[in-house]
Amino acid sequence: GSARIGLTGLATMGRNLARNMARHGHAVAVHNRTTARTESLLEEHGDEGADGGRLIGTESLEQLVATVERPRAIVVMVKAGEPTDAVIDELVPLLEEGDVVVDAGNAHPDDTRRREEALREHGLHFVGMGVSGGEVGALEGPSIMVGGSEHAWEQLRPVVTSIAAVVDGTPCCAHVGTDAAGHFVKMVHNGIEYADMQLIAESYDLLRSVAGLEPADIAGVFEEWNGGDLESFLIEMTADVLRHTDAETGKPFVDVVEDAAEQKGTGRWTVQSALDLGVPVTGIAEATFARSLSGHTDQRKAARKTFSTSPEEQRVEVDREAFTDQVRAALYASKVVAYAQGFDQLAAGADQNGWETDLGEVATIWRGGCIIRAQFLDRIREAFSDEPDLTTLLTTPYFAEAVAEGVDAWREVVATAAHAGVPVPAFGSSLSYFDGLRRERLPAALVQGLRDNFGAHTYRRVDREGTFHTSWAGDLAEQEMD
Ligand code: NDP
Repeated sequence: GSARIGLTGLATMGRNLARNMARHGHAVAVHNRTTARTESLLEEHGDEGADGGRLIGTESLEQLVATVERPRAIVVMVKAGEPTDAVIDELVPLLEEGDVVVDAGNAHPDDTRRREEALREHGLHFVGMGVSGGEVGALEGPSIMVGGSEHAWEQLRPVVTSIAAVVDGTPCCAHVGTDAAGHFVKMVHNGIEYADMQLIAESYDLLRSVAGLEPADIAGVFEEWNGGDLESFLIEMTADVLRHTDAETGKPFVDVVEDAAEQKGTGRWTVQSALDLGVPVTGIAEATFARSLSGHTDQRKAARKTFSTSPEEQRVEVDREAFTDQVRAALYASKVVAYAQGFDQLAAGADQNGWETDLGEVATIWRGGCIIRAQFLDRIREAFSDEPDLTTLLTTPYFAEAVAEGVDAWREVVATAAHAGVPVPAFGSSLSYFDGLRRERLPAALVQGLRDNFGAHTYRRVDREGTFHTSWAGDLAEQEMD
């Protein structure tokens, strides 16, 4: 074996990850089921290695395994799901005790847990590694969330640390817990990404439909927002996309794209997991549902026909400049809520699975490389460093002040959207979440009463300890007797 690490699966992500490793001085044995991919990679980028780093082509998994120094580290970067299982099954008999298998694809945490358990029985270390940043990130520095044994982490650490994005001298990679922790953190990252994008989309819709701005003007607004608290990769990219015109028609790009959003499933996984954990991730859930609503073209068509309204009927007069600023405040406050919810889910997941996930560290490694990278994450990092066991991000001094300052604008925007008939599921549900948390008394008391009445589900009282059940039929009988 002459390679430090091996990698199989040389499509967009694997190819770039391997190049990134070679550029950082690592000898990487590479493999792909279809050897043409391996050949093209070596032809195009074989000489890219620096400081002894290089790509070593192999034609079979046997050869890949034989080329890597022991204890081996083999990264699997193939299509998620069955293909990943197939490759792992093929690898296992070729490996020896102490070797490490890394799944760097987007696996469901439950799959990772299952695979880790199975490989542990063979004396192998299985690492579920969340990699965010897409194609460019994989090559130039992604954010990397590693789940697995301490032994595996120690072995992978030098390579992973060298290829990750760097912010303020800190690499954007961390060991976030054992078994499925890395893929869990990556999953929630993607869920937050859904919420972030939906909030941005609602902001755009309001600026266009209510304030009457054109896409190019809105691009300018986002550019300006990117100079402040909202500075982030997604806000910057929004300006880009909105400014883009379609080469063929000369129309704004957003107007030639079909308005049905697709999804590969990580948002749905996040919401399913949150339901199981009992964590109200309303922002992520609404964002996921908004995508599916957009895809129900038949129902939308039927509803448009039945409930048509002319744009004029729904025209709400607003002061453009003031409204734009209110939307910015609503976006920021809703974003705080979405992140507070996402971090709640991280805490609950860690708690349930016994992972020692350092949430401040997660915020730290999301500052660069990944899709949700933002200034904002520095504030989250600070909040956790001030108070590692904080109850909710929402009430930490910096965010509490930001939300308190923006709350009037937030209400105004949600009310205006309702009047104008512009759907704002993420803005609206985030505001309800905020109000739900801060409310003195919730109508949950009535829900408890109903549950006790129809199902004898019992309730607790505000004035004494214990569990109570009211004999509802009996009470009625008594009343009747009086
Ligand atoms: P794809 O998900 O498109 O997968 C293609 C690769 O999988 C090819 O190398 C292909 O080999 C291999 N493959 C598929 N089936 C098998 C099989 N049965 N046996 C062996 N190899 C197989 O590649 P991507 O690079 O887009 O993504 C890789 C992983 O990274 C996925 O899990 C994805 O979810 C994840 N990911 C992707 C991101 C992105 O932006 N694309 C971002 C973050 C994570 P062959 O060439 O022989 O067909």
